Amino acid sequence: KRQIVIAGNWKMHKTNSEAMQLANQVRIKTMDITKTQIVICPPFTALAPVYEVIGDSRIHLGAQNMFWEKEGAFTGEISAGMIKSTGADYVIIGHSERRQYFGESDETVNKKVKAALENGLKPIVCVGETLEEREANITLKVVSRQIRGAFADLSAEQMKKVIVAYEPVWAIGTGKTATPEQAQQVHQEIRQLLTEMFGSEIGEKMVIQYGGSVKPANAESLLSQPDIDGALVGGACLKADSFSEIIHIAE
Ligand code: 13P
Repeated sequence: KRQIVIAGNWKMHKTNSEAMQLANQVRIKTMDITKTQIVICPPFTALAPVYEVIGDSRIHLGAQNMFWEKEGAFTGEISAGMIKSTGADYVIIGHSERRQYFGESDETVNKKVKAALENGLKPIVCVGETLEEREANITLKVVSRQIRGAFADLSAEQMKKVIVAYEPVWAIGTGKTATPEQAQQVHQEIRQLLTEMFGSEIGEKMVIQYGGSVKPANAESLLSQPDIDGALVGGACLKADSFSEIIHIAE
C-alpha cells in the first residue's frame, strides 16, 4: 500500500507568532503518529520559525509556491534554494488559487516542478477542474492537460519525488466536497494517465491526494477509496484539533 500523506495548506494565514503556536499544537497532538506522513505549509514568512518549532518531530515543512529561477532581479519572488534553506522539503505548485489569481499556467507549473526537483524539494502539484468544466463534462480532459503540462519532459526517476493533489476548484473553500465516488473516479483516471506516461511502477506508487473541503467528518470516506492516498487540507488545517483529527483518521 502507498504512503498516506496529509498536508495542510495554511494559505495566507498566520503571523509568525500565530504560526509557531499552531505548529507547536500540531506537533504535540500528533506525537503518537507513526505511519502517516504529515506536511505543514505555512506562508513563506513563517517557514524558518516553524521549522524551529517542529524540531525533530516527524512533521515535514512545505512552502506554498516558488519561482523557477535560481536568483536575480525578480522582485518579490522566492527561489527553491531559499525555501530549501529554511528546512522545508516540500512545495505546493500550481494551486488553483495561483492559477486563478496569479496567472499560473501549465507551462509555469512545469518550470516550477523542474526547479523544485533540481533543488531537492518534493513538489505537491495541484490539478482540478472548475464547476463550469465539470458541468460541461470535460473534467478528464482538463485534468489530463494539466498533468501532461505539469510533467512534460520529466523522467520516471524524477516522478518518484512528486505528489499529485486533485483539487476540484468547486470544492475548495466552499464546504462542497466531491463525493468519495466522484473523487475516486478522477484519482483512478489520473493514475491511469501517469501509468501511460511513466510506466506502471510510477502509476502504482504515485501518491495522489484529494483536496477540497476535507474535514474530520468526511476524511474517512474519502481516504477509504482505493486511489486516494491522502489529503491536502485548507480551512481545517488552521485549527490543530481538526487537522490532527484528520491525521488520526488517516493513521
Ligand atoms: P479547503 O480545505 O479550505 O477547501 O481548501 C482546500 C485547498 O485548497 C487546499 O490546498
